[in-house]
Order: sequence, then structure tokens, then C-alpha cells
Amino acid sequence: MIVEELKGEYILDISQLRKDMIELAGGKGANLGELVSFDIRVPPGFVITSKAYSYFIKYNGLDDKIRSLLNSNEDSLQISNKIKELILSHPLPKDLEDSILSSYDNLTKKIGKEVLVAVRSSATAEDIENASFAGQQDTYLNVSKSELISKVKEVWASLFNDRAIEYRKSKGIDSATVEMAVVVQKMVNSRSAGVMFTLHPATGDRNYIVIEASWGLGETVVGGRVTPDEIVIEKSSLKITEKRVSHKVLKIVYNQSKKENEEIDLTNSQEAEQISISDEEAIELAKLALKIEEHYKRPMDIEWAIDADLKFPDNVFIVQARPETYWSFKNKEVKTEKKGISEERKVLVRGLSASPGIASGVARVILDVKDSNNFKKGDILITRMTDPDWVPVMKIASAIVTDEGGITSHAAIVSRELGIPAIVGTKEGTKVIKDGEEITVDATRGIVYEGKIVEEAVEQPKQAVGGQVQGLSRDVLLSLYPVTATKIYMNLGQPDIIDKYLDLPFDGIGLMRIEFIVSEWIKYHPLYLIKIGKPEEFVNKLAEGISKVATAIYPRPVVVRFSDFKTNEYKRLIGGEEFEPEERNPMIGWRGVSRYISSQYEPAFRLEVKAIMKVREEMGLKNVWVMFPFVRTEWELKKAIKIMEDEGLERVHDFKVWIMAEVPSVITLADRFAKLIDGFSIGSNDLAQLTLGVDRDSELLGRMGYYDERDPAVLRSMKKLIRTAHKYGATVSICGQAPSVYPEVAEFLVREGIDSMSVNPDVVISTRRSVASIEQKIMLQKLRK
Ligand code: PEP
Ligand code: MG
Repeated sequence: MIVEELKGEYILDISQLRKDMIELAGGKGANLGELVSFDIRVPPGFVITSKAYSYFIKYNGLDDKIRSLLNSNEDSLQISNKIKELILSHPLPKDLEDSILSSYDNLTKKIGKEVLVAVRSSATAEDIENASFAGQQDTYLNVSKSELISKVKEVWASLFNDRAIEYRKSKGIDSATVEMAVVVQKMVNSRSAGVMFTLHPATGDRNYIVIEASWGLGETVVGGRVTPDEIVIEKSSLKITEKRVSHKVLKIVYNQSKKENEEIDLTNSQEAEQISISDEEAIELAKLALKIEEHYKRPMDIEWAIDADLKFPDNVFIVQARPETYWSFKNKEVKTEKKGISEERKVLVRGLSASPGIASGVARVILDVKDSNNFKKGDILITRMTDPDWVPVMKIASAIVTDEGGITSHAAIVSRELGIPAIVGTKEGTKVIKDGEEITVDATRGIVYEGKIVEEAVEQPKQAVGGQVQGLSRDVLLSLYPVTATKIYMNLGQPDIIDKYLDLPFDGIGLMRIEFIVSEWIKYHPLYLIKIGKPEEFVNKLAEGISKVATAIYPRPVVVRFSDFKTNEYKRLIGGEEFEPEERNPMIGWRGVSRYISSQYEPAFRLEVKAIMKVREEMGLKNVWVMFPFVRTEWELKKAIKIMEDEGLERVHDFKVWIMAEVPSVITLADRFAKLIDGFSIGSNDLAQLTLGVDRDSELLGRMGYYDERDPAVLRSMKKLIRTAHKYGATVSICGQAPSVYPEVAEFLVREGIDSMSVNPDVVISTRRSVASIEQKIMLQKLRK
């Protein structure tokens, strides 16, 4: 075959591609080509097509070898390693290698000097979903000519990451037939970079384009490591209406001699205060943004970069464009102030988006909950971290901002349940935000602005129950949602807000945390109440809280979890000091079942059991089940169950006993635990923490990407639990945050055959819909086979 012919099929210039060429060029390649087709400047380069991959595989006779490895009984990690080794150790056909290298030389000629390239995987249609899920997104940056061929092979090999193999298997896709394209693009030698939106991200106002910019590579802006400069441009006139230069503390640049990215501290440099983008560049970017918005006919969220090697305007590049999601799904128009937000807007801090939404109000910086007396309804709470004592304040807040914590922290969980916008892990919110100042919390993007931008807390976009369906009876309303074989439960700990969620299509409460009732309704430490001779206070109030929910949703089940406070939290209950030891590590300390069976706490555990008895026997609410948290060993669980039985609560057909699967030992010995109980519920928050050895509240590790429930180790544990539990006759549910935050985890669990999933109120509808479609897809696949 002559090279020219080859090039047509195996190598294509980005400018030759269009969006319908996903089979050949993969999703990334096809989208880049689409941008070029309407004159959007992207870094120049070429695509090594999926056909080139197949050519390489066939040329070396690897197809049969790969297939037989995939069919072997080995563990998917071993299979993965062996296939990757096969790919990496075989040569490219000479003609293919030559044409890749000559395409690289052409690129060099175009630029006028030796360039470094980015080598990226570009998944084809069948595999796109899997690619983003399974981290099969290999990208090698700053690759030189001598490394190019080996990096291409590494990208091909990433098709066979163990997680990708497992995931395809679960979806009935044959891994031996998938293909991959590879995008090779000039590395932008990024002088400045950032993001831009074709609407105002804080207000949804579509008359403006907002550009955020900083020095060096764009990851400092995307990852929230610097406060970027901000330019607001009016669409109609393409005039800059606002410019804000911020103090940029660092930049990341590529160091040629060290061959790695390097962080440069800018705190003492003049660059920190200099604007990182010229007016001319900003307007050029705005023009490109308008074209992109016009082409895709919707507001867009765009990443861009300015190259230091090239001259204006050839240096202004678009790196990625995707539809803006928050405002685009909101149907309600937001009021913006007439004069424009311009004069007032300044970013105060950034953090992780813990509960989406946006609100303006007066900031109250409160470090100790004892000082919260003057907190008024609608104020915004700014504090280090919340704990159960803060809930009454959180309930009346219009938004919450904390210095510490990740997406499974107390502040995150409670605000999602309450439906209040929250940003966690801002590091310095309590220092930067001033008590009494007016601010706007855009929790969808994780940004706190100075000043009031919206008139009122904006309704969250995800729940569309209200307006659309007014006038329908609840039964009719609920019948509009699809029926799913996998039950969809809801997490709810606060009895007083159940009424707000009654129109949602959930099959029960899969996790009722009783800590809310204890800290807000009871307020006293149970052992203190016993000491002063008022144990019934505890039993009655706990029973009242549980029965409120159980009555409201009867006959659907409510899975009540026995208390799971940590020592530091129990200590804060009235009278708690006396009964709680000082622990260095409460998160892995005297928690869950270990308390119930200890001589100190056992009397209090008996009160918890009595409350359940009261609800089930006296009030007749047989839809109340129980769950044990933080189970570590079989022997402790047997003891705790014995105490429960001793109080008269026994496992019968309408009374299920579940345990949380959150300490890895429960999964390791799932066969044995299954014999003691009816069901498991995966506590993915703690399971991820304990599987990966990562403090779930560590803002630092969270930002570094360590805390991730999608990690293959965590997913494999969940899968193993489902298999073992089913083999031994127990059911499996999940009540951690993972399926609420990551729809792909929900999909994974449905495919693995989980019995139910308990999610946050804000995603009940979307989860039910997506589970229904996944189930249908699975059935169709089975039918076709
Ligand atoms: C969990 O660990 O996933 C869980 C639901 O429990 P909590 O967040 O209360 O520890
Ligand atoms: Mg837990």
C-alpha cells in the first residue's frame, strides 16, 4: 500500500473531520473537526483513525490472542496487564509508522519549529460512555517525535484498562471488537488560559459573555487554584463592560529541561497583579464564543488558551466546548439588576459544589454555634465545618459556605437533604468573607461573589414536580413515573421536611439517620437522661420523629439507622461531656455497633430499640425496619442483635434487619454476615474512605482526586458484595452519596443487579428515569442474544 492511500484512511487532518465521523475519528476527533468546520481555531493536528488501530492489531495477529485472553478465567486485572503488554511489545506496520511520523513532520513545517504534541485517546461511538466512566481517557502531554509512536501504543493499550474491560462486560459489549482513534495535536505553549461562558454564570443573563483568565496552563482556573481575572463582554456590541484583575497566586507552566509541568509561585511577582489577557484577545475569544453558541444553538461552556509561540490572532485557541448545563436546564428567568451585575461582582472564594443552587443574602461568619443567636432566616452561614448542632441554623440559612470538608461531609449531606445551596472546602471563607456583607453563593459552580446578584434564592432546576403538574392528585402524579425493578429509595433524616417531598416517586426511605432527631428534638445525651431519671424523654421523642415519616409514607418502608454519632458529636449533646472520652480519631473510633455492645452505652442503645418497639408495636407502624451502622465484626453484630432481641425486637417477615456495608471487613466476610441479617446497604461514603485510606473530610486529598467512590477498588468491592449477598440470600441497597452524585455509579450498580438504591431528594426523579432506561436496555440486550 502506498503511503498516500494509507493517509486517507488511517490518518486524517483535524480539518478534514466532521461530527458524524465518530466511527473513524472518535468523539474527540470528530468534535474538534466540527469546530474547525465553522472557522473555530483549535490547535493544529491530525487523527490516527480507528482503522489504523485495527490495521495494527491485524498486522500483528493480535485479535485472536486478545480474544482468548478475554475469554480466560483470569482476573480482569491480569487480563488487562497481559493485553496491554501484547500491544506495547508489538511494532507498528512500517507504512503506518512512516505516515504517522511524516504527518508529525508536516505539523512541524506548518508551525516553523519542532513542536511538542498532546496524544489523546478518542473513543468511538460504542465505547464513548465507557471511556468517560472507566477513566480510559489517556492523554500524554508534551510528547516529542522520538516518543510519539510509543505513546500512541500506550493510548491504544488503555482500551484494555481493567475497569474498561469489566464495564464493557457488564454492558454486554465485546472488548475484542472495540476500536480507538488517537488525536495528535500541537501542545499549546500556554501563556494564558481559562474558561468562558456564553451567558453570565452567576445570573444566567444571556446578554453577556464572561471570560475567566489566568497565566500559564488553564488547569489553575478549571481546578479553582487561582482567582482568575474576569472580563465581561456585551454580546450585542462586543464591548468590554467590566474588567476585574485579581491577585493570581500561581501559574503552571511546562519546563522543557525537566520535562514536566512546574508550579511557579507568583505571590511576589508583578505578574500576579497584571491582567493575563489583552482586550484584543478577549474580544477575539468572544467572537469565537458567539460562533460556537450560534452553531450549537445553546449556551456553551468553553475552555481556551493563548499560545506564546504564535502571533495574534493565530495564537487564540479553543481547547474544548461543551453545553452549559446549569442555567440551560432552568426554565425560570432570573432577575438581574438593571445596571448590570458589573460594578458589584468580585469573586471572594471558591470551593467544592456540595449542593447546587444560587442565593444572595447577608453573610454571617460564625465560628462557634453558641454565637449563632442573631442568625436570621435567609442569612448565609459561613463557618469552618458544620456538625449536628448546626442543623437548626442551617435550616433557616439561604446558603452555606464552609472552609473544610468534601462532598460527603456533614455540611454537604445536610444541605442536599434540605435543598439549600452549599459550597464546602473553601479553605479561607471564614477569613475572606466579612460578617454582615452581602454576598451571592453560586453553589453550582462553587463560587462566592461579593454583592447581591439574585433577588432571592433561586429554585433548584432539577426538581420539576411543582409547577408543571399542579392540580393532579398525588396518585396520578406518581403514576406518571416509570416503574423500575430496582427500588428507588430516598435518604431523609429530618422528619419535619417529609411533607415537602411527598410528591416524589420514591419506594421508601432507604436511610433515616436518627442523628437529626437526637440533636434537634431531644438535644440531651441519652445517658444523661437516664442519669436524671428521664429515659422516656428519649424514647418518646425518637418514636415521634420516626412515626412522623413512617405514617406519611405508609406502607412504604422506612429503614431507620441506629445512632451513628462519633464521640466528638455525642459530646456536644447536653450532658454529654461526662460520658464521652476524648478520641484522636473519632471517624474510626467508638462508633456504631462498638458502642451498642459496650457496657457504657448499652443502656442508651436499649432506648433506641425501645423507640422502634414503640413505633412498631404501640403505633402499629410495621413499615419501620432497622439498620446497624459501622459494623466491623461478626461477633459484635451477634451481640448487638442479641440485645435487640432481648428487648423484644426479632427478625420476622415484616421486620427486616439491615447492616451498612461500609467497613471493608463486611464485604470480605459477606457470606457470613449474610446469614445474620436480611440485607446490606452500601455506605459508599465510609467504604471509599476505608478502602482507599482517605479521610472523607480531607479537603486537601479531595482536591487531589484521592477521594473518589468511582475508584475501581471501591466499585469492585460493591460488585463483590452484590454477588455474595445474592448467593447467600441477602438483599443489597446503597445509601451513600455515590449514586446521587455520579449517575454512572447508579448505572453500574443496576447492571450489577443491586436490589435498591437510596438517593438524595433532589435526584429521586432523575434516578428513577435513568434506572428505568438502563433496565430496559438490559432487557433488550438479553432479548437480542
Ligand atoms: C456512608 O458512609 O455512606 C453513609 C451513608 O453513612 P454516613 O455518611 O452517615 O457515615
Ligand atoms: Mg457511614
